[in-house]
Formats: sequence, structure tokens, C-alpha cells
Amino acid sequence: RVISASQSSSQEEVLERALRPKQLDEYVGQAKAREQLEIFIGAAKKRSEALDHVLLFGPPGLGKTTLSHIIASELGVNLRQTSGPVLEKPKDLAALLTNLERNDVLFIDEIHRLSPVVEEILYPALEDYQIDIMIGEGPAARSIKLDLQPFTLVGATTRAGMLTNPLRDRFGIVARLEFYTTEELTKIVMRSAGLLNTPIDDEGGLEIARRSRGTPRIANRLLRRVRDYADVKGNGRITQEMASRALAMLDVDPLGFDIMDRKLLEAVVHRFDGGPVGLDNIAASIGEEPGTIEDVIEPYLIQQGFLQRTPRGRMATQAAYRHLGLVGGGPGQA
Ligand code: ADP
Repeated sequence: RVISASQSSSQEEVLERALRPKQLDEYVGQAKAREQLEIFIGAAKKRSEALDHVLLFGPPGLGKTTLSHIIASELGVNLRQTSGPVLEKPKDLAALLTNLERNDVLFIDEIHRLSPVVEEILYPALEDYQIDIMIGEGPAARSIKLDLQPFTLVGATTRAGMLTNPLRDRFGIVARLEFYTTEELTKIVMRSAGLLNTPIDDEGGLEIARRSRGTPRIANRLLRRVRDYADVKGNGRITQEMASRALAMLDVDPLGFDIMDRKLLEAVVHRFDGGPVGLDNIAASIGEEPGTIEDVIEPYLIQQGFLQRTPRGRMATQAAYRHLGLVGGGPGQA
């Protein structure tokens, strides 16, 4: 049973929810995180205890929310879901915490965006399953302690570095989600195509997987767009040819880079001589938020070896020069 603070129902989100794996053995990839969780979930169940608090971190779309749902369902408990920016006041969090049943999972997305006063409430809750709340106002105000049911906090963040130390220290299980391999993404695309009743060739699935920036959410999104294209321009079957043509139309290049990826690489190469250049300068130059560049755009470019993060700023690599058609180029040689 999932109780969500904000039930959105756009068609895209309905589809995304429908494609979500429900059990750990349907969850593709992330072998390390999966193995850890399998053991700790098994142990918690055996002892009928709450699972230790879990911190999941990694770029958006890699499966943090999905994993939190799976954790609750494997434990056989309720999941309550909220996010850092939604919890404005201590009482918002207190209300959620006091409604938890024994061993439930509380999922807080974007946990690095909790306000300090809300975070303050969380510490004793995580440590001793207790909260201090203020009753009354002015001189008559007093604080009382409330006992909570044992529970598991699953926190998700794109940047573990932005968590305060005391909060990070309270997670017993920390799992970093990695970009997926093409093979893993192919599995995800083929599974999703099956759920959408879309006929697809293996090569069609591979083509979509290869161009999905290592990210299941993007793989599923591209699959839906290619499916539309194949319905209109073909007989509905996703072949490699259909996938290639649809992805070219969507400006997804053969490496899976989209317009923003190319804009960023082009800016670093052409406007800043390959770098090093600071994040804020790149942001101003391409008209994007520094936070979005850091969370969404650059992690994949760095992982793929097209961009480097140095103490003096970002630098384009040889691979970036080659990809932009500047053969043999590179910082200092361009
Ligand atoms: P995050 O919370 O990290 O932003 P989500 O958990 O919302 O990412 O995942 C985005 C979508 O990708 C989900 O709808 C799900 O269908 C798919 N997905 C994520 N991880 C996996 C996985 N390991 N196996 C299969 N599908 C996945």
C-alpha cells in the first residue's frame, strides 16, 4: 500500500508508474545495492524489526524511488512518500512520523533539501524513534516527547555531498546507484515494451538502450517516443531502423547525448578554449541552472569521459573534441 503526498496523474507519469518493477528480482542491474539490500531486508524480516535507515544516492532516473517502493514491498510494510521541499514545517514531518505503523518505510526524496528546523526533528526520530514537539505558545510553551513506532527512513538524493554530516551519519545502509550498462538498459527496454504490448526487435531495443544516457527513465521515455514514431511512420514494430530514425528526429545523437549535452560540450570547447571553466560560467553561457548541470547533465558526460572535473573547473577531453568533429584537437591544441 502506497500513500503518496502528491498523487500526480499525467499520462506520462501513469505510464512511468506502470513500468516500475515491483520486486527486487525484477529490478535490473545495481548488483551491489541489490545484494546488500537483499541481505539486510532478509535479516530485518527474520527478526521482525525495522530495517536500518537507507540512503540512496545518484543522478535522477536511476531507480531510487523504484527501489524505495521495492524495499517496502519486500518488507511487507506500508510506504509513505514525501520530499524535502514539501516538508516546510516541523509539524509536517511530525504528522507523517506519528502516523507510521510498526516497521513502515518513510521515503523522503530530495532529502538534501530538508530545512534545518525539519531536519532537527528527524535526528531523535531516527536514533530513538522519538520526537520532541512544542505544545502551546509564548511563555506557556513546553516541549513533550512522543514515542514513535520503529520505522525505516529511505532518503534519496542526487548529491550525497549536500547532506549535513549528522544526517548522513544516521543512515546505516548507504547505496550509490550507478549508470546502467547498455546490456542492462536493453533488458529494461525489452521488459517495458512487453508491458506496453509493443512489438520490438532485439536490435531495436539495443538501439534505444545505447542512446539512453545510462538511465532507465530516459530509456523508457525514448521507448515511448519511438513507439509513437513506429505507429505513425511504420507498422508499429520497433526495428533498429525505426529506432534510429525516431531518435535522430528527437536530436538524440548516436552516443545518446541530447541538445543540452552538446550545448555544454560546445560551450566548453568553443567559448572557453576547452576549459578549465567554472560551473557558473558554463551555466550563464548555456542558459541552464548550475544545479541542473551538476545533477543532470554533467555526471553522464564525466562518467563517459567527455568532461573532467578539476580543482580549477571543468575541462573538455579529447573525446569531446572528437565527438564535435574536431579531430586531433584537445585543450591547448584546438
Ligand atoms: P529516481 O527516483 O532515481 O529519479 P525512478 O525510481 O523514478 O528514479 O526510476 C525512473 C523509472 O525508471 C521508473 O519508472 C522505472 O520504471 C525505471 N527503472 C528505474 N530503475 C530500474 C531498474 N533497476 N529496473 C527496471 N526499471 C527501472
